[in-house]
Amino acid sequence: MTSSDSQRPLEGQAALVTGASRGIGRAIALALAGQGARVACVATSVQSAESAAAECAALTDGALALGVDVADGAAVKVLVKDAVQQLGGLNILVNNAGITQDGLLLRMSEEDFDQVIGVNLKGTFNFIQAAARPLMKSAGRIINISSVVGVTGNAGQANYAASKAGVIGLTRSVAKELAGRKVTCNAIAPGFIETDMTAALNEDQRSDLLKGIPLARIGDSSEIAALTAFLAGPAGGYITGQTLVVDGGLSL
Ligand code: NAP
Repeated sequence: MTSSDSQRPLEGQAALVTGASRGIGRAIALALAGQGARVACVATSVQSAESAAAECAALTDGALALGVDVADGAAVKVLVKDAVQQLGGLNILVNNAGITQDGLLLRMSEEDFDQVIGVNLKGTFNFIQAAARPLMKSAGRIINISSVVGVTGNAGQANYAASKAGVIGLTRSVAKELAGRKVTCNAIAPGFIETDMTAALNEDQRSDLLKGIPLARIGDSSEIAALTAFLAGPAGGYITGQTLVVDGGLSL
């Protein structure tokens, strides 16, 4: 391996990242582009994904901005086909798009439950299914962004925790099913990370939260992006079916 290979270990690889417009997904897209991958940045609309794709384009040879509702299976199939054609194949799929619709169990509407499961769990399934063939061709990598809440559960997040626990079961099943084709599939379960999703916390909630985190700080998107790039890169090839918790010790 030359020194430039070690700095850009993903050179020549093609990646698709959902939820790439903001927060963790944007950091992941930039980390993969920074290591040389061509990246398709997917968000709810092309316009929403454009600035992330432009930042990626400054780091790598190919970057695309694409828009879809990840919960819409038929639309996802069309988008993945188009992305694979434009990227010239697919080596890395990162399922990161996600939403919350928090509420206590007794007050949670069926719509709030279905919407969160639809985006977080079915969206992940939709992309894995649509991208499975090109990933089998490239012996590719799938990385799903779950949540520590999918491991521990959380009051007020029955829908979100169920969707993220579902992502862990999906990850293990896909890992077993596609291992014969040398495709790996892993999940990352972040704790609290500074993004729009956590910006709604008020100061009291924030200080309560910090008391429960042994490392006494909220995490940074770059810390999730670095692990994603590791799992996608040459050093991550023998890891599959795992859920890696990145939470500053919150779940200990
Ligand atoms: P965020 O800042 O709220 O960004 C969400 C991303 O998902 C945006 O790019 C958004 O696109 C996209 N998205 C939402 N609904 C979509 C849909 N139906 N179709 C396509 N794209 C959609 O979120 P984040 O905090 O970075 O979280 C990213 C992932 O990490 C999520 O799966 C989340 O559950 C997980 N996570 C986050 C934390 C945390 O503390 N932040 C902790 C654990 C797990 P637009 O910009 O176009 O709306």
